[in-house]
Parts: sequence; structure tokens; C-alpha cells
Amino acid sequence: MIDSPAQDAAPAGAPVAADGAARGPLLQVDNLVKYYPIHGGVLRRKLGDVKAVDDVSFAIDKGEVFGLVGESGCGKSTLGRTIIRLHPPTGGRVELDGEDVFAKSGSELKRFRRRMQIIFQDPVGSLNPRMPISDIIGEGMVAQADRENGWGKRATRDGQVGDMLDAVGLRRDYARRYPHEFSGGQRQRIGIARALALQPDIVICDEPVSALDVSIQSQILNLLLDLRREFDLTYLFVAHNLSVIQYISDRVGVMYLGKIVEIADVDKLYANPRHPYSIALLSAVPEPDPRVRKRRIVLSGDVPSPAAPPSGCRFHTRCWLREQLGRPEACEQDVPALRVIEDGHEVACHFAEQLTPEAATQAANIVPAMSATGDQVTAISSIAGIEATGAAADSAEAAAEVTASRELAAAETDEDEGRGPSGPVEPAGPDTTRTPGA
Ligand code: ADP
Ligand code: MG
Repeated sequence: MIDSPAQDAAPAGAPVAADGAARGPLLQVDNLVKYYPIHGGVLRRKLGDVKAVDDVSFAIDKGEVFGLVGESGCGKSTLGRTIIRLHPPTGGRVELDGEDVFAKSGSELKRFRRRMQIIFQDPVGSLNPRMPISDIIGEGMVAQADRENGWGKRATRDGQVGDMLDAVGLRRDYARRYPHEFSGGQRQRIGIARALALQPDIVICDEPVSALDVSIQSQILNLLLDLRREFDLTYLFVAHNLSVIQYISDRVGVMYLGKIVEIADVDKLYANPRHPYSIALLSAVPEPDPRVRKRRIVLSGDVPSPAAPPSGCRFHTRCWLREQLGRPEACEQDVPALRVIEDGHEVACHFAEQLTPEAATQAANIVPAMSATGDQVTAISSIAGIEATGAAADSAEAAAEVTASRELAAAETDEDEGRGPSGPVEPAGPDTTRTPGA
């Protein structure tokens, strides 16, 4: 468990609500574990587990944007989806507003599902092509209809759908259209409208801009920030793109192979990362100016398999600090706890205190900056430092997500203990309707 000040119900200096009560975290995740069993052979015997999320703890305050960053496959999506019960957890505990999310069933679970929504990366795969936008956005409302919200009535629903389209910068009359009539950015706006229609408290944004053109990424990020203010939202924002995370987050958690290795305020983390992995990761942020040469720590080897993670510190097989320190035994033998090293800054490294800027410099090679195209540079500067992402990795991930979101939609519909909002929804097409915050 993390020994974080944010985890106390009423940390010193916590924001105090109007009624005088100190606000605890909205979302509290303790020792969350999610393993996927691996089956094989003719008898489909269980051969092992993919340890996708392994003992992860953190908390998110109301109104906060908590960014989760890490390489593809490190468990970010699994973490987000397990929290909102799209996947059953293997272990651990999640509390929303002090209530145990995993203990809910039946109508209580249904109520919780409304409060925790998700926006997927791929707007195309998560929008049912045969449904008009009104039904896509209204679908979850039908599932969640009760006497109080009146969502069972078509007119009430249509009003809310129109309001949501308005809120995300689309025309109200788009409600009659179908997903194929929209651009990528517009489809993502529909996906956002779909999530917000249910008036959630927290939204898991799982790579919501990774599949979009760089020029549209900033519009969607600014829209999300505007909506947070307008609807008093809290985000768990998942991305592998460090610049996107820096732009949108208040606090950031860095993940490596199923574990969070560092948590800090965004400015603190980017100015002064304290985990050898975070330092290497941040050193790899492309420099938009191709003339600039920067120091970069290139990690040796590939990310190990989460089915057989290294002992002790999972990062030890690739750790440059361990090499510098002459391979201390602790790295291989003891799992480092995520511990507070200064106010609001947590690190899971036995030797974080020995990590000096000089040590990092020594580990770095000077490499030419990644060259960006002229277009990218323009787009980049226009969105205050958001860099282009690896298109190939993104599209592979998007394809995997189409499958995932369909499975999830089916799983939710089949679930007998209270149905959540059905299939994920997202739009596609050019994105010219609104430039939030621009
Ligand atoms: P990220 O979102 O950081 O890219 P994921 O959470 O998608 O990472 O995946 C973490 C690990 O879990 C990966 O090794 C991935 O292959 C595995 N994984 C993800 N979903 C499943 C699943 N449904 N079944 C089995 N393994 C999965
Ligand atoms: Mg993912």
C-alpha cells in the first residue's frame, strides 16, 4: 500500500468543502491486482498468469486529472478497466467516495457503473455503426433510467442528448445522423458525449487522443479540460504519450510492467523525475526542434514478459542505476515499495536517494533529436508541446481496442447483476466544429 498523504481520509491541508467537511480522495485504489490466466495444450490447462497489474495503489482527488503513463503493454488499460469493473479484479480494493466498488452487485452496481464511465481510444470501433447518434448517446441512459432521472422517456433523453452534443461542440441535429458521417475527432466527441450523458463522477480516459491527428489532439484535450470544469469531473487519463500526459495532468503515475514506479505532481515529475525508469522515459521525449541535440538514456533490452516478470524490482534487468551502483543484491531480491521521498513525491526504488543528476548524465548518450516533419512541428507548437505519437504503435493498439470494446459491450450486456451502459461508443470524421480553448 502506498503511504501517500493523498490516501488519508482528511490529509492536512486538504481542500475543505463548503459544508466544512474535509474532502478525501474520490477514488482510492489499494493493492489492486489483475492477472489474466494463460491456458494452453489440448486440455486448455492453466499454464500461468499474465501479471498485467500487480499490487497498485494510488488515490485521485475530486476534480483532479491523474495521468497514467508507461510503455505499451505495461498494464494501463487493464488498470483503468479493472477499476470500473469491466474486468473482474484478481485482488485488492477500490473505493469510490469511500464505498467499496468491488462489493457492489445488483442495483447498487448499476448505480456505480453510471458514476464511472470510460472513453476509449478508438472512436470507430466503439460506436455501433447501425445506430443513430441519438441512440448511441442515449443507450446508457435507457439502461440507467429510473423515476428520478426520467431517462425512460424519449423526450427527456433527447433533450439530454442534445445538451451533450452542445457540450462537446457538435450540432444538436447531428443526433439523427450515423457514425460514418463523422470525422475521427467528431466521433471522439460523440464518445465523450456518450460517457458524460450519464453524469458520471469519474471518467477513465483510455488513450482518448492517441488515434487522432496531432492537430486534433489538442482540441480534444482542451475539450476534456473544459468539460471537467463544466461538469465537475475527475479523470484517470491513460496515455503512452508523455507530452499529452504533461499537458493534461495535475498528477502523474508512471507504470512499468504492472507496477506504478513513481507518482508526483506533473511539474515535479517532469522537472525532477526520481525513478531510473521515469528518467529514461522522459529523456526520450522527442525534441520538436530538429537542430537540438539532447541527452537520452537508451534502455538496454526489451520489456520483459508480464507472464514472467523479473524478481525484486521489475525494472532491475534494464536499470542503468543498478549498473552504476555495481548491481546491488536488493534490486534483484526485494520488491521496492512505493514510498514518499519528499512531500507529494513517491518512488519505488531502493536507491532513489543515490540518484543524482550527474548519475543520469553519465548514463545518457547525446543523440540527435527525433526529426519531426514541418507539419508536425507546426502542430506541436500550436498545442504547447504536444508531440506526434508513434503512428504504428497507435494503430495496432487501436485495432486491439476495437476487439476489447466489443467484448466489453457484450460482457456488460450479458451480466445478470445489473446492466451497465452498453457498448462503448465513439465517432470518426473531420473535426472542424469547435476549437475548445483555442
Ligand atoms: P497498456 O494499456 O499499458 O498497453 P494493457 O493493460 O493493455 O497495457 O496490457 C497489459 C498486459 O496484459 C499485456 O501484456 C497484455 O498483453 C495483457 N492483456 C491485456 N488484456 C488481456 C486479456 N484480455 N487477456 C490476456 N492478456 C491481456
Ligand atoms: Mg492500453
